Amino acid sequence: MRIPTARYITEDDIKIVKIKEITKKKYEAVFKGKLYCPTENCTAKLSYCGGRKAHYKTWRFSHHSSDCKYQLDRSGSRFVTGFKETVKMNISHKRKYDALTRAYKTMIRAENIEPDNIQLKQKEAKNRSPKKAGEQKDQSIQLKLFGGQIEEGHAHFKGKKLLSKFVDGVSLSDIGQVRLIKGFIKDIELIDSVAEITIVHHDQEMKVVFDEEFKNETLNKSYLDKFWSIKDLLSIQRVVVFNGVGEIREEKKDCYELVVTLGSDIRFNGEDLYNIARVMKLAVTI
Ligand SMILES: [Zn+2]
Repeated sequence: MRIPTARYITEDDIKIVKIKEITKKKYEAVFKGKLYCPTENCTAKLSYCGGRKAHYKTWRFSHHSSDCKYQLDRSGSRFVTGFKETVKMNISHKRKYDALTRAYKTMIRAENIEPDNIQLKQKEAKNRSPKKAGEQKDQSIQLKLFGGQIEEGHAHFKGKKLLSKFVDGVSLSDIGQVRLIKGFIKDIELIDSVAEITIVHHDQEMKVVFDEEFKNETLNKSYLDKFWSIKDLLSIQRVVVFNGVGEIREEKKDCYELVVTLGSDIRFNGEDLYNIARVMKLAVTI
């Protein structure tokens, strides 16, 4: 849930700060770490989320009091907070890498197309029956991937699944879970060093978001300020396949978003963001 106001608490002052009064710069310089839920007696910390629809959201791991109206904000993820982090840690880079590679190949194969020619074929695909060969293949890949095999980690997590889903397949039960999401890019809005990406599949849309945690992660340094290249890519290839691993959050009722924490967890037409930016940059200079 988007929170419109926050309480700014310092040693000797408490005041209400509306979202309109805040900017990215001000937040970083003054308010960061000092904003709390506007509900009286609620101690949940808030963070600022910039962009066209700027809003406050609940700080990671922070909880609202049981009678706070923003408590719902967390109901999905709180349920799994305990092991969610562990699962995230436990899905190895290799597993995600393999899953992303397969997801892209499966999508391309399901549409029976050359990557450069996605657009036309995508339209054709819409006329097919909903139970497509690709979906069945997906299932078998999932079984292979997650059939109780364990590459590393504790026995406790044996069989934990990295389920892959198309945008239109995401449901309530996915909230708070790590998923591999498949779709096509509809739009990308650059925000600071990152972006908000709208992906689509069978007319169902979903946002892909990169929040403070993404920006602060040192592993992501090479991915910051690279999203312009996706915008450029979209202008050349109007259909770009998206595959990404992240946590599913409920943006608003029946509207989900994918929160990505690592730059290496996303692919565009099967490519890493860093590589795309490198290639696009070359294309510009030549
Ligand atoms: Zn609260």
